[in-house]
Amino acid sequence: MLAKEYGIESVELDQNPLDTLIETILSQNTTDKNSSRAFKALKSHYPTWESLRGENPKAVAKIIRSGGLAVIKAERILSALEFIASEKGNLDLNFLRGMGSPEAEQWLGRIKGVGPKTRSIVLLFSLGKPAFPVDTHIHRVAKRVGLIGPKTSREAAQTELARLVPVEDFYSFHINIIEHGRAVCQARRPKCGVCRISRFCDYFNRLTKAQV
Ligand code: SF4
Repeated sequence: MLAKEYGIESVELDQNPLDTLIETILSQNTTDKNSSRAFKALKSHYPTWESLRGENPKAVAKIIRSGGLAVIKAERILSALEFIASEKGNLDLNFLRGMGSPEAEQWLGRIKGVGPKTRSIVLLFSLGKPAFPVDTHIHRVAKRVGLIGPKTSREAAQTELARLVPVEDFYSFHINIIEHGRAVCQARRPKCGVCRISRFCDYFNRLTKAQV
């Protein structure tokens, strides 16, 4: 039903995984608009990631300040570049394509400051591997609908939703449930009256029973 409402997106796998990793670090705790501005600024100052290596974190923080938490993010990005270069001798993450999803996730997990959501985003969006990133919208909608329990953490939700959704639908479902969370199932006032999936929703069913 979400696919009927919002369409079916297919993943474009030509994205450089290191670009995705850095974009995702920049997107933590901010809007897409701000993080995209910060990413563009970073790319225009440092056309290659190699040219960013070893830079002063404060100078980098100034460039990415539109993305918020600039000092922390600058330090995370610089330390990720150092880790990758020290492990692989270069800044190319394409070797992850040849690994299984669990191994690739484990490798990415060794980078400081790279949590479960960031790892899953790199796996799904850049490498086309089965991983289900859970952001704040997905977490909220999945809990309300009852796809996961009310106390399920975001990290646990990644595994639980990955079990529920067919692998070939991961990407589209991920995009559509975020869209639904933004447009209809909003945090403060969900628009249940116009929601196309209300009949499957625990929150809605509880609400209507309470009103009878
Ligand atoms: S019925 Fe309401 S709570 Fe349930 S998914 Fe729709 S908008 Fe969200």
